[in-house]
Amino acid sequence: MKIHEYQARDLLASAGIPVPPGQVISSIDEAAAAYKHVTGASGNPLAVVKAQVHAGGRGKAGFVKLVRSAEEATEAARFMLSNRMHSPQTPPEGLEVGKLLVAAGVDIADRPGGGSEEFYLAITMDRASRRNVLIASREGGVEIEKIAHERPEAIIREHLHPVAGLEPHQARSVAQRLGFTGKQILQAASLMVNLAKLYVEKDCTLAEINPLVITATPSSDGQVIAIDAKFNFDDNALFRHKDLQAMFDPAEENPAELRAQKFGLSYIALDGNIGCLVNGAGLAMSTMDIIKLHGGEPANFLDVGGSASEEAVTEAFQIILGDERVKGVLVNIFGGIMRCDVIAQGIINAARGFKNKDGSTGFKVPLVVRLEGTNVEAGRNLLKAAAADLPTLQAATDISDGAKKVCAAVG
Ligand code: GDP
Ligand code: MN
Repeated sequence: MKIHEYQARDLLASAGIPVPPGQVISSIDEAAAAYKHVTGASGNPLAVVKAQVHAGGRGKAGFVKLVRSAEEATEAARFMLSNRMHSPQTPPEGLEVGKLLVAAGVDIADRPGGGSEEFYLAITMDRASRRNVLIASREGGVEIEKIAHERPEAIIREHLHPVAGLEPHQARSVAQRLGFTGKQILQAASLMVNLAKLYVEKDCTLAEINPLVITATPSSDGQVIAIDAKFNFDDNALFRHKDLQAMFDPAEENPAELRAQKFGLSYIALDGNIGCLVNGAGLAMSTMDIIKLHGGEPANFLDVGGSASEEAVTEAFQIILGDERVKGVLVNIFGGIMRCDVIAQGIINAARGFKNKDGSTGFKVPLVVRLEGTNVEAGRNLLKAAAADLPTLQAATDISDGAKKVCAAVG
């Protein structure tokens, strides 16, 4: 599960990590008051208006704007609430923005030698070493992906001990390697230790601060403060975090994926045109692979689970074909506990009863079914016999045959 930046900031603050004050708004009218509220205490006219969406790259997309008056804040809010945001992390059609964070702006210190004092900091899982890892860079900010790609030596990695976590001496060493000096070494180090604790406590799969900055002050000892944060959580651990569950925002989820969840189906939308209906996650993965091998593009991952009942298949068909790009469907089911003839009958019934958008009933797009397992011959015979009222239905003899047939059918 992902959360919004404003929620991530609350988590940071609760862990003792400094963040600038902010206020969430959802309409243009609220922008001026929010601006006055967040700038009122400090007397610094700088504020920042930030789109709250579950995608990064907002800065470059024009959805993070520095403002210096209530009028500018209102203009920024108008732009963000009336345009969809497009970034490399959004779907091609972009994302609608429903909420904005108006936060006190931070004057970021200049870095001696050029640029500003922006750092990258994250804790995530390193599967190769089977440990959590702190990732840090002196080159934080909006170009971090490019830097990681072009200058991997600019990225520091420090593994966390499975029991002890990030130890203070490790954090101090990283802070020094990042170029922090004086009091800021201890500030940055304690912030890293706190972030690592939070990561474990909240069952995160990612806890990221980008950028972490040094504030500009007339003297040289600025504060170390987080101005953007991102968290991902392990869904399988959410049951023990009521506070995180409350942060779930359905508006940020793919509606088809939400609907699938309700029916116990694991569904992930992709960009291709061949819908896949499979039982078992491993078989679903290999089905997608084999479609690609034969030149096709899967439109989704869908695991109907072990039973592949008529109800599950009916719901799965509706979800798959709710995606207008889908031009054909490959069903790939292994009948282990359930018999293939029972499954075949379920598929046939679901296809016959399928409700099209124009109100008509019966499956119209090419439907290729590959069954394997108990009573498979009886199952295939049922599929062949059903062709009379389901002319687009084809039975496949094996997984390759199924992939070839569906790729041919969608062209
Ligand atoms: P992202 O592009 O989605 O990661 O959004 P960020 O919140 O990280 O903002 C992008 C960039 O905008 C940062 O790297 C900063 O350079 C700049 N920025 C954001 N907030 C502030 C602020 O309060 N003060 C200043 N000076 N720059 C900011
Ligand atoms: Mn950022």
